[in-house]
Amino acid sequence: MNFQEYPTQTLMNITPRPSLVFTRGDGSSLWDHAGKRYLDFVQGWAVNALGHSPRCIVDALITQAPRLITPSPAFYNEVSLKLAEMLTQHSCFDQVFFANTGAEANEGAIKLARKWGRVHKGGAFEIITLVNSFHGRTLATMSASGKPGWDTMFAPQVPGFPKADLNDLESVARQINARTVGIMLEPVQGEGGVNCATPEFMRGLRALADQHGLLLICDEVQTGMGRLGTLFGYQYFGVEPDIMTLGKGIGGGVPLAALLAKTHACVFEHGDQGGTYNGNPLMAAVGIAVMNELLKPEFLPEVKALGEYLSAGLKALSAAEQLGEERGIGLLRALELGTERGAAVVAFARDDLAKEPGWENMGLLLNSPRPACLRFMPALNVSRAEIDQLLNGLRLTLART
Ligand SMILES: *Cc1c(COP(=O)(O)O)cnc(C)c1O
Repeated sequence: MNFQEYPTQTLMNITPRPSLVFTRGDGSSLWDHAGKRYLDFVQGWAVNALGHSPRCIVDALITQAPRLITPSPAFYNEVSLKLAEMLTQHSCFDQVFFANTGAEANEGAIKLARKWGRVHKGGAFEIITLVNSFHGRTLATMSASGKPGWDTMFAPQVPGFPKADLNDLESVARQINARTVGIMLEPVQGEGGVNCATPEFMRGLRALADQHGLLLICDEVQTGMGRLGTLFGYQYFGVEPDIMTLGKGIGGGVPLAALLAKTHACVFEHGDQGGTYNGNPLMAAVGIAVMNELLKPEFLPEVKALGEYLSAGLKALSAAEQLGEERGIGLLRALELGTERGAAVVAFARDDLAKEPGWENMGLLLNSPRPACLRFMPALNVSRAEIDQLLNGLRLTLART
């Protein structure tokens, strides 16, 4: 079909979309309406942990759909019980509340912390969050986020989210008062441009939380589920939070998220939290399939090795092209371009790379979270050959932008 024939004006115009329509995906490849193939290093913003339409997720959906799609969250179902058991067995947490999106899981974490403050801390409700953080697009999670401009966008904000700076323990300590109930952060800020917490900062936050009786909340929507080379990001830092949220990778592309907490923080009572689709067996079956892949003994060590391989390649490219810093953990990485040509690089790689030798009828999908920065979040099972191809495409793109 011709692009002009698609009814694109029927969708709310919430973001500039390129003039192409995706019709098929397989692993690290996507195909558009014209049959052009794209090497995908965005993967729905770190969502497709195992790439597009992996066999194990297709099988989980095909097997579960005819059995039971959703009995209601007010009843137990075997599949969500199994996934909750897997998540608690392989983490430091004791209980799970399933959700559909990262923002919803974070809303749950915020509600849980406020409830805990009411029960255990004399009504304390403030949660310290960080500048440049991203926690979602609901009103409360936008208020928790430290994205520049978001404080006025849908004013008035939800109150109770004083801001501190990443890797500045003193700035966090300064915000603590009698109203403080917790500290919430992404161990690596994803949307903010892959800004990594230092292990010292994470340990310092744990100590501050213990000293003042606060909850440490890790938003692992992007860093959880193997992205950093460990099953959960906090394990990389060796610091246990009281509450963690998961999203993105746990569903491998389908809407599934989770809120996990240690026993002492599990204070929800009947009526406090819920949701029509929460814990539905169809999505939970996918979560089990993703967990099963990640728990294969060779899987996470390979993510770590692939992260090092990608990092080495990007570092070499940066040295050759005189670009800026390469950083990240595992398969969540960023490259500073030195100049604000991120958008131009993304557009050329997608639309114009096909004119370069070896890229006939092919493009490359990249992400530029900030004007001078590229972010890489490939499938966790990306191949070394695909990483080589990315590096080649990026080199050709940088020569033309
Ligand atoms: C993507 C993201 C969210 C929001 O998840 P949605 O599923 O889009 O609601 C929240 N926190 C972090 C760290 C994220 O990367």
